[in-house]
Amino acid sequence: MVEYNAPIRDYEFLFNEMFDVIPIVQKLGYDFDNDFLSMLTEGWGEHAKEVWLPINQLGDKKGLDYDDGKIKMPEEFKSAYSESIEAGWLSTSCKQEHGGMGVPIFFSAVTWAEIGTSTNMAMSVLPALSIGVYEVLVEHGSKELIDYFATNLATGKWAGTMCLTEPHAGTDLGIITTKAIPQDDGSYRITGTKIFITYGEHDMTENIIHLVLAKTPGAPEGTKGISLFLVPKFLPSDWVSGGVKDLSENLMSDDNGVTCSGSEEKMGIHASPTCVMNFDESIGWRVGDLHNGMPLMFQMMNRERLATGMMGIGLAEIAYQNSLAWAKERRQGRDLKGPQEPNESADNILVHPDVRRMLLEAKVNTEGSRALAAWTGILLDQMHSEDIEEAEMAEALVALFTPIVKAHFTDLGCESVNTCMQVMGGAGYCTEYGVEQFYRDVRISKIWEGTNGIQALDLAGRKITHNMGKNLRYLMWPLTEFIENNRTIPEMEEFNKPLHQGVRGLQQLTLLMIAEGQANPHFLAAGATDYCRYFGNVLLGYMWAKMAKISLEKSGDPFYDAKIASARYFFKRIFPETAGLAARIQSGYKNLMDYPVEMM
Ligand SMILES: Cc1cc2nc3c(=O)[nH]c(=O)nc-3n(C[C@H](O)[C@H](O)[C@H](O)COP(=O)(O)OP(=O)(O)OC[C@H]3O[C@@H](n4cnc5c(N)ncnc54)[C@H](O)[C@@H]3O)c2cc1C
Repeated sequence: MVEYNAPIRDYEFLFNEMFDVIPIVQKLGYDFDNDFLSMLTEGWGEHAKEVWLPINQLGDKKGLDYDDGKIKMPEEFKSAYSESIEAGWLSTSCKQEHGGMGVPIFFSAVTWAEIGTSTNMAMSVLPALSIGVYEVLVEHGSKELIDYFATNLATGKWAGTMCLTEPHAGTDLGIITTKAIPQDDGSYRITGTKIFITYGEHDMTENIIHLVLAKTPGAPEGTKGISLFLVPKFLPSDWVSGGVKDLSENLMSDDNGVTCSGSEEKMGIHASPTCVMNFDESIGWRVGDLHNGMPLMFQMMNRERLATGMMGIGLAEIAYQNSLAWAKERRQGRDLKGPQEPNESADNILVHPDVRRMLLEAKVNTEGSRALAAWTGILLDQMHSEDIEEAEMAEALVALFTPIVKAHFTDLGCESVNTCMQVMGGAGYCTEYGVEQFYRDVRISKIWEGTNGIQALDLAGRKITHNMGKNLRYLMWPLTEFIENNRTIPEMEEFNKPLHQGVRGLQQLTLLMIAEGQANPHFLAAGATDYCRYFGNVLLGYMWAKMAKISLEKSGDPFYDAKIASARYFFKRIFPETAGLAARIQSGYKNLMDYPVEMM
């Protein structure tokens, strides 16, 4: 039986004590206070635990039913989804005018996303995608499209997808071949095949709204020629040919030439359909400017990348909770210093340093990641500030953090679920205890939304040099100020000193990556993944030093004492990996690129 309690206390600590979020969002114009935030966090935690979690294993076992182009979802998923719509939990950050709650983005991007993926990752990706489509539409769509589609996407009545990948074009989207032919009425006819489309077909909603990347005739080569189109599965029943002006009745019933010709069998998230989608002269409307599809899709993908990072945290959290509960009951062997409970046949396995190592690695990395996620979530709100400087700072930091959140959190998530499974020995490998499902479910997070290797290249090749290094400067200012302010505080030395060394190392490695990378791009590419991990460690180090600072002032309370112990664990046992990462980056590219391919 899988256990789960939403990490409400941790969120209270992060949003209230660490980042003091309420004045920030009130300044941005939100009518939002602490009581409301607690009510949301507790309410969503309870709803997800009661409605989503109980069907998570069922979804894994039952999966979905593909038959002749139609996908039937488990009935239990359909009713849970409807219940969540009724309760308003699928539209927290959407505008009130579209039926949403209109709460700040940080809640849906961080708290909602983590709890959703912990309790049912296969289910959570459906509303996450729909909200992604909603946001792109509301920001870049025409008024007619917004009026017609936004409300049903926001509330979850209709679902959204993102259709990028084609059989021959995954990472390299510049070579897609899906075509969009302009029509006299302003619409387009879309033809092509997309693969691996999450929730491309299903019966959870009345309609499915696809955002499709395609090329118009004569478009420039590569990604510069891609445009973005909104293509519904069903067209309005009164559709004639008049373009969006005819979308007056909120009824969709006519087939739009969108068909599903297959659903993938896969390692995890069995209740999340992964579809081959065919568009056969399907009617669609352009969203945004011609040939500007990639930036818009990246806008959606950036939100989805943060959501994907939260999958790493969410599954690591639930795996940790279950392996800890199991470990507390399990007795094997004796404490090497002598039996702790001589009247029992064996001691509890928490007496073994190696078991503690595994559990603490998962706990500390998850909590550190959650802190950085909380900061990133608040920055997402600040990006919309009317204060130009605040908005610019937020945009720069979000750009910098996005590949790290996506890649580092999902790497850590996969590692954490793996070690939590190990804590449980053979039981970890058996279905009954749930953790093996989390292991299978979390694995996709390193692959989709751009593989982690591509995230690392984005960080090293673009984000650190972008804007003449402005992204990095916006981070270095508060970080070096924090280090300086704590330099003379003796209790902070054990955290501040390694953080300082790490930051100095990061600056040196950044210069090396830029200088060598300019001369030889293989140098930059060969070190990118290690650089991304190094950077992730520095950011988590910053988070842990900040958490230690707050907690030192409140020591004596178990919650804060645990935070101090976790910070200590981080700097003693996790952060030192930066030395190895630096050595690997400095080793250059020849050990990779001179290796004889014929011997691989
Ligand atoms: C379950 C599932 C759901 C998905 N959902 C969606 C969806 O909803 N919509 C959608 O459009 N797509 C979706 N995808 C597709 C997913 O985003 C891609 O699989 C992913 O981006 C990688 O593309 P690929 O599989 O073609 O791998 P490839 O691009 O073939 O990459 C293979 C390997 O080469 C590396 N590589 C490729 N190019 C480079 C390069 N330039 N530099 C360095 N390394 C490189 C990659 O990192 C990877 O390790 C989904 C996939 C799965 C499995």
